[in-house]
Amino acid sequence: MSERLPSVIVVSAPSGAGKSTVLARVLDDMPGLRFSVSHTTRPPRPGERDGVEYHFVERSVFEGLRDDGKLLEWAEVHGNLYGTGLAEHGQARAEGVDLLLDVDVQGAAQVREKMPEAVTVFILPPSYEVLERRLRGRGQDDEATVKRRLAAAGRELHAFERYDYAIVNDDLGACVEALKSIVRAARCRVSHVAERARAVERTFKSAKESN
Ligand code: ADP
Ligand code: 5GP
Repeated sequence: MSERLPSVIVVSAPSGAGKSTVLARVLDDMPGLRFSVSHTTRPPRPGERDGVEYHFVERSVFEGLRDDGKLLEWAEVHGNLYGTGLAEHGQARAEGVDLLLDVDVQGAAQVREKMPEAVTVFILPPSYEVLERRLRGRGQDDEATVKRRLAAAGRELHAFERYDYAIVNDDLGACVEALKSIVRAARCRVSHVAERARAVERTFKSAKESN
């Protein structure tokens, strides 16, 4: 059996654009795709489980992982530390699955540097007004937080230019389908299929030698 490296798909979006909703649907629909569980110093929200949404850790533990070189990328977001463990990639490789990373724009930039073969996707809300409506509709944040998230979205949006793909999350079903198509395309990249293709090539060489 030839070695199969995971396809790595990195998704970023301003808060409220619908990233969690879209990722949950894509993960439900696509076998062989695993969510990369990040480490964070943020406390769990109601309903969040350790090891499922995040590995919830103390700041000292996070800094230890970071200083020991055990993180693929890390960033401070809204005053908390977030990072992707290198172990996620190794585990995905061992399991033969692909990896979906949910990271902010700083994290995506680091993944791009260290793993140029990773595919990056930016999800945009359809407009300022719709983002405002979604943030309020979610009912998770107080007024000041909504205002802060809207301002942050305005600063973050221009980052879409540095991503391989951008999807405007207008219709949810269409957005989910678009991301699924990107995952499928990532799985067909030559960098991803090369080992298998070389194994195919070898069967031709050995057939030629025995003829
Ligand atoms: P994020 O993870 O990007 O912060 P969420 O997934 O929590 O965003 O979505 C924010 C809100 O917008 C949620 O209430 C969600 O149900 C809603 N939402 C997401 N995508 C759409 C869409 N395409 N159309 C309408 N509402 C949406
Ligand atoms: P939340 O606390 O709302 O789950 O996430 C806040 C922000 O942190 C989101 O933009 C999310 O993409 C980002 N984030 C989550 N995990 C990671 C990670 O491992 N690394 C980086 N750089 N950002 C992350």
